[in-house]
Amino acid sequence: MEKSDHSVHGEADWGRILRYNNMVLNGQDEFPCPLESSKQEFEQIEPESPPPCPQWSAPSMTKMRALEVLRKHVSDYGLDPRPANEAQVTNMEILQGYRYRLESFTEKRVTRWNTEPYKGEELDDSGVPPPPWSVPAEEPPQFTTSFKDIPLPYTSLIKDCGRCLGRGRIACTSCENGRDKCAHCCGRGYNYNYVSTYTLTNHCYMCSGMGHVRCMFCRGMGESRCLVCMEHKKTTLSICLRVKWVNHQNQILCGSKEAHLHQLSGRTLLTHTAKRVRALTDFPESGVMDAAQRFTQKHAQEYTDNARILQQRQRVELVWMCRVSYTWRDQTYQFYVPGEEEGAIVDNYPEVTCDCCSVM
Ligand SMILES: [Zn+2]
Ligand SMILES: [Zn+2]
Ligand SMILES: [Zn+2]
Repeated sequence: MEKSDHSVHGEADWGRILRYNNMVLNGQDEFPCPLESSKQEFEQIEPESPPPCPQWSAPSMTKMRALEVLRKHVSDYGLDPRPANEAQVTNMEILQGYRYRLESFTEKRVTRWNTEPYKGEELDDSGVPPPPWSVPAEEPPQFTTSFKDIPLPYTSLIKDCGRCLGRGRIACTSCENGRDKCAHCCGRGYNYNYVSTYTLTNHCYMCSGMGHVRCMFCRGMGESRCLVCMEHKKTTLSICLRVKWVNHQNQILCGSKEAHLHQLSGRTLLTHTAKRVRALTDFPESGVMDAAQRFTQKHAQEYTDNARILQQRQRVELVWMCRVSYTWRDQTYQFYVPGEEEGAIVDNYPEVTCDCCSVM
């Protein structure tokens, strides 16, 4: 027996939940929750100045350490050890740059439709759903990207399932009336058997000559359960609030054009976290200060658009490596030793050809 008192609610109910956040049933996935005041509110926060950048001494590297790194590399990659063992270091040069990074940890809210099978449960539709930005949401760890779905109270209504039109079952999409064309004979009921100059036809054993087989998906029924209402025929439509936390970041390497430096991790010189950071203005490398200015302006502009910035973090890293030049058998070669990482970057290593003194 169908519970008639829980059939589709009146039009008033539709109006009640369709008015929420201007949501409409047009197939759209998400409806942004406006937050007009965010930009002004962010601008009213007094930016916090970063602490002074600590003194740091230019790192150095010894010949011995550089050659050790090269020999380790040669051994790891199975190269001929002789050039590394006999290398004469002719020059060592420290190359360095600064990586500046600005992160803005933001929160954004959207509403989404949620459809679930209606199993006869009581729905509480007696209250007024709270405005999207007043719903409390527990923040995840800062500077991480994640989301949380929060069901909004008083936003449920019951309707006939739109997928099966209230039937509970839908026609099987992989067959026709429970029959599937036999793949073995392509629906003919027989197969060709080519014997030198003439062709025989063989009765298809897969379908017993019928040309069709029972559909595997619906077991020959021609229809299957509706996966939207799970055969309950009715669904509950409700509104879910999705809170999205995103960590936006921009970074740049200043002070060097060396391509290898871009891939290297660096040594942190300064980390500064605040609700709103003031761009770094006291730093030996002007590129870093320019980037800080540019990124803070960009973030204040872009990430306060229907979102709010919860926290900012700026960071400066020293990225460095040592370029080592050496000779082996009158030829000059180079490799790099990263300052803060294991291993060597070896662009060219002597090709040892098989000459008289090589082992076969
Ligand atoms: Zn067949
Ligand atoms: Zn089927
Ligand atoms: Zn259905």
